[in-house]
Amino acid sequence: MTTPQASQLDAAQIQALMAIVGPDAVKTGDEIAPEYARDELVSTSSYPDAVVEPANTAQVRAIMRFAHTHRIPVTVRGAGTGLCGGSVPVHGGIVLSTTRLNRILEIDRECMTATVEPGVLLLDFQKEVEKLGLFYPPDPGEKSATLGGNVSTNAGGMRAVKYGVTRDYVRGLEVVLADGEIVQLGGKPAKNSSGYNLVQLLVGSEGTLGVITKIILRLVPLPALRMSLLAPFPALATAIAAVPAILNSGVTPTALEFFQDKVLHAFEESMGKPFPHTGAPAYLLIMLDGNSQTELDAAYAAVAEVCLRQQALDVLIADTSERHSALWEARGSFLQAVKAMSEIDEVDVVTPISRIAEFIMFCDSLAEEYGVRIYSFGHAGDGNGHVYLLRDAMDDATWRQRQDEVMRIIYQKGAELGGAVSGEHGIGRAKRVYLHEQVGETYMRLLRQIKQVFDPLGILNPGKII
Ligand SMILES: Cc1cc2nc3c(=O)[nH]c(=O)nc-3n(C[C@H](O)[C@H](O)[C@H](O)COP(=O)(O)OP(=O)(O)OC[C@H]3O[C@@H](n4cnc5c(N)ncnc54)[C@H](O)[C@@H]3O)c2cc1C
Repeated sequence: MTTPQASQLDAAQIQALMAIVGPDAVKTGDEIAPEYARDELVSTSSYPDAVVEPANTAQVRAIMRFAHTHRIPVTVRGAGTGLCGGSVPVHGGIVLSTTRLNRILEIDRECMTATVEPGVLLLDFQKEVEKLGLFYPPDPGEKSATLGGNVSTNAGGMRAVKYGVTRDYVRGLEVVLADGEIVQLGGKPAKNSSGYNLVQLLVGSEGTLGVITKIILRLVPLPALRMSLLAPFPALATAIAAVPAILNSGVTPTALEFFQDKVLHAFEESMGKPFPHTGAPAYLLIMLDGNSQTELDAAYAAVAEVCLRQQALDVLIADTSERHSALWEARGSFLQAVKAMSEIDEVDVVTPISRIAEFIMFCDSLAEEYGVRIYSFGHAGDGNGHVYLLRDAMDDATWRQRQDEVMRIIYQKGAELGGAVSGEHGIGRAKRVYLHEQVGETYMRLLRQIKQVFDPLGILNPGKII
């Protein structure tokens, strides 16, 4: 972890920021908590010169005008749960925290939309809309992330198999540009063919093109019923190989996750509670939802039959909300459980569904050859495996060398299988080099030119994506 460095901002500039947001909403020097120097990828860290917490769009505009005039880097930060160093201020300057931009402004039942500020937490939002019988399907593992962070990384999560990813729910955005100008993109209409789609350009732009200050999200009706199935398999290969067969069964599962037994052991050890089943080398965890018991029973029967045909050792059903929640809460804790064992580095390559088994088995096979523990679990149903390299007791030099070797091989394999560098976590700082290698110079030139249009001085989240 780096320590705070000498500030790029002088006393008068700090005063100017305090005049915009109030003295309590600007932190400098020792007042800056260590989490503002990193996200959940602990290997990238750097302190900002100031953390600034605006409370409304007008304050964001004033901060951006000020930063633009003085050419000060601005890195937007939601909850800092990102996994690729995206919210880490690698060039110092201002961290613009969205903590105080945390209001749900409207839920419009007729249009089935919600208008929110970017600092609203996903878990709070999901609870609020569900109280009204509405549903916001994107469901990344970390529920304490902000909606602004989810939009800026195009977060995916468990329910993408049936419902798609964050991108599929963003109808409109209010964005403060690098020079402080405010622009409204999209809106409540359900369709829009009015020229280039700037809403979708901003989704997944990781704070490099503008500061998102309002979001209009699409909602859908809340399914009445859901149930989960846990299918133990005799091997990781058979578990993942069953995925295309399940997707071809005529049923679209809400979620379809895989994990290895060693991930379960890590969970049980770090959380101190048992998982409902152990002893099999690999598992599929499947969620189904619907509006009638008959519909759900038919879906369950079809999926269970496919699993058993694909060599599942059993198919266990969780049809009470307690059992269902226990399984999914455990699934949501897997990453923290692996992190509790060791420093890690992660890969969230997405491949075509037909190649996910080959990709995961390939990654698994590298463990022995390179002398590094490799754990995997993830969103098998959309081809997005999460692969973790564990540092364990390696010294700095060995860890760096091992990471570099193994990561390169993994990303090469992902590309060879027709995959993409990141399925949902984004590029941030950590995956830039792999993105460049995979997409090539013409693609990168287009990205740089887009960046130039939005942020000619390069003050927005410098050192990320491109
Ligand atoms: C245990 C765990 C499980 C996870 N599971 C998943 C998962 O299943 N699926 C998934 O997709 N991700 C997952 N993540 C990753 C992470 O939660 C997501 O990337 C999330 O979207 C980040 O949101 P945040 O609020 O923490 O954003 P931050 O980490 O603060 O920021 C992420 C990026 O968004 C930018 N940004 C944030 N807010 C704004 C804004 N208002 N305007 C412009 N730019 C902005 C930042 O500059 C940065 O580049 C997981 C993380 C953890 C720790």
